[in-house]
Parts: sequence; structure tokens; C-alpha cells
Amino acid sequence: MNRIYMDNAATTAISPEALAAMLPCFGQNFGNASSIHSTGRDARKALEESRRTIASCLSAKPNEIYFTSGGTESDNWAIKGAAFANRKKGNHIITSQIEHHAVLHTCEWLEKQGFEVTYLPVDEFGLVNPADVEAAITDKTILITIMAANNEIGTIQPVAEIGKIAKAHKVLFHCDAVQAVGAIPVNVDDWNVDMLSLSGHKFHGPKGVGALYIRTGSRVDNFMHGGAQERNRRATTENVPAIVGMAAALFHACANLEEKACKLMMMRDRLIEGLLKEIPHTRLNGHAMKRLPNNVNISFRFIEGEALLLRLDLAGIAGSSGSACTSGSLDPSHVLLAIGLPHEIAHGSLRLSLSDTNTEEEVDEVLKVLPQIVKTLRDMSPLYEQYLEENK
Ligand SMILES: *Cc1c(COP(=O)(O)O)cnc(C)c1O
Repeated sequence: MNRIYMDNAATTAISPEALAAMLPCFGQNFGNASSIHSTGRDARKALEESRRTIASCLSAKPNEIYFTSGGTESDNWAIKGAAFANRKKGNHIITSQIEHHAVLHTCEWLEKQGFEVTYLPVDEFGLVNPADVEAAITDKTILITIMAANNEIGTIQPVAEIGKIAKAHKVLFHCDAVQAVGAIPVNVDDWNVDMLSLSGHKFHGPKGVGALYIRTGSRVDNFMHGGAQERNRRATTENVPAIVGMAAALFHACANLEEKACKLMMMRDRLIEGLLKEIPHTRLNGHAMKRLPNNVNISFRFIEGEALLLRLDLAGIAGSSGSACTSGSLDPSHVLLAIGLPHEIAHGSLRLSLSDTNTEEEVDEVLKVLPQIVKTLRDMSPLYEQYLEENK
């Protein structure tokens, strides 16, 4: 059976460009980038070339890019690093209720260390209101951390507006841009961010590698202590193959950004319109326009998302309910609750996240299979029976 993979917000396949760039680093170019000899210098060259590539994709300077083990580490470093470096100035952090757990759980941990955190609500589309950010700032505020695009519902935040407010109040601004980088244009100056997180495996690079952008002059403590790597700021021997793969993947993603987005949006909108039209008692989660080009998130009343996923999997279609990190737990998604969905509707939600390797034929197949599965599940649902009974 031909499998249809539509779970690209969880992870992506490694692109041929990334793989080709990585292979020599597992062979001849295996050196330690800190070694003096030419094997080491070759690795160093590949490392610094990757740093320049990533910097240019973000309109940053190469010496503002630090390699990490992924989006989670970048978020932890940015938030904890900024919190502890600015502790004398204040102890207040502003974030939103719909951040990734890498941000939310870090903030919750900081609360136990004596910091105070404001978790801003979002509107029904998942948008943070910049006026709310401004109103939450006090003379104790040291950090604002708001994501660029949500991993579950795809909502794109008004990052530049929030950045302007942060700058005017001289508060550090961190942005988890893990879902945005490689998907929409990202420019650290246009956005006025001081720190920005990205992750290789979300844009067809390898897993276990990411980067943190730190604007020159920002007060941020180091996170990993040890050797002198990453200009004394992040110890451990650099994962050169992964870094090189990530840079190649990002270069390719950014070179084709608009063309790719056009193709994705056509497939996305055909899926959304088709599913809303074919299946009654269905709603789109997130914003219709301010939305990642590859994100579909739909709630179906009267069914369980998990049951839907298993049936889709049997039909060869990989999707997700809520976010991959919370699947396995029975709590409904914090993001869907924050946009105001009642528990039972949040439970019946499906995320399909596309990549430009998906095809129109695959979209056709999903539009054919999914309505049948929803119908089968509803026919077995006591809630649906009850609803039909009450609405005769
Ligand atoms: C995937 C993701 C992360 C975590 O990235 P890892 O590299 O898997 O640690 C953080 N934030 C967002 C928005 C994500 O989508």
C-alpha cells in the first residue's frame, strides 16, 4: 500500500539535498571541528559554512547563530538563559497559553524558581493580541516569549507587532519559530526578535539538531557548560553531519519558499473546503488566512480523534490528533481548549500537515477516505445517536 504521510508538523522526511550534504560527514569529513589538523579544519569549514547559510536564511549575522540539539533545547536556553541573566532587573515573563510544551513547561519550571509568568489568552482563532502583550508589561518584565506559528492549528502570530512593543519597552523578545522557519519568510530584524528557535527536522533536515539565534548584545546566560565550542557559549563537540544537513535543508526550503507555499496552500485549501463540505458537524480550527501554508486542523463532532487516527492509519494515511507530543495522554490539547473548544469537540480533532512532496492525488484519496471513516465512526457513536434522537 502506498502510504500517505500528512504529519509534517511532527516531523519531516530528510530531503535528498540534506542527505547528500550529510553523507561526506559520515565518511571522509568526520573530523572534530575543534582539532587543529586538516581533518579538523575541514569539519570546521563545513560547520562555519552551515552557520553562514542559516544566518542568511534568517537575515541574521553568522556569529548570532548557535547550534543546539533541537527546538526544545533552543527554547530552554533562550528562556532560562534570559531569565537568569536578567534576574536582578526583574522576574516577570510574558508568554501565551498556546505555546509548545518546550516553552510552557520551561516557564512553569521557572515559576518554581521564583519567576512570575503571565500566560496570555488567545482569541477563537488562536491569535495573541499585541495590545494584551503591551498591557501585561510591568517594570519587572524581563522576557516576552511568543511563538511565530502554532504547531497544532497553524495560526501565524503578529510577531513583528509584538517585537515592536518589546523593543519600545526594552524587554527581550524570544520567538519559537520552529514551525515557521522554512515555511514562511523569517527575518530577525523585521520581527525585532532578540532570540529565535528553529529545529532541523521540521524542514526536512535531520532530527536532534537545531539552532538558537541570539542578537548581538542580548543578555542571555549560557546553558551547556564545558568546552569552548560555539564561542564558549554551548559546550559539546558539534554534531557536524546533522548541522550540515540542517543547513542544506534550510537553504533548499528558503530557495523555494514561495513556490512551495503556493502549492501547499492549494492542497491545504482543497482539503479544508472538501472536508467541511462533505462532512456535517465539522469545524476548522485556527485562522482561515493567518495560517501556515501546510496546516489543516479540523474537529468532527461525535467522534474520538484517536479512533479516527487508527482508522486513517489502516487506510495508509498518517495524520495526528492535537500535537504529537501529547498523543498518548488523554488530556485534550491545551491549544484547542485555549481557543474555546469544549472538551468533547477538542477530542474529535484531526491535524493533517502537508509537505511539498504530497500530491493532489493524495489529497483526492484523503477526501475520498476520510468522510467514509467519519461516517462509520459516527454510526457507532452513542453521542451521535442521541443527537439524532433529539433533533428528529
Ligand atoms: C517541534 C517543535 C518544537 C520542538 O522541537 P524539537 O527539535 O523536536 O525539540 C518546539 N516548538 C515547536 C513550535 C515545535 O513545533
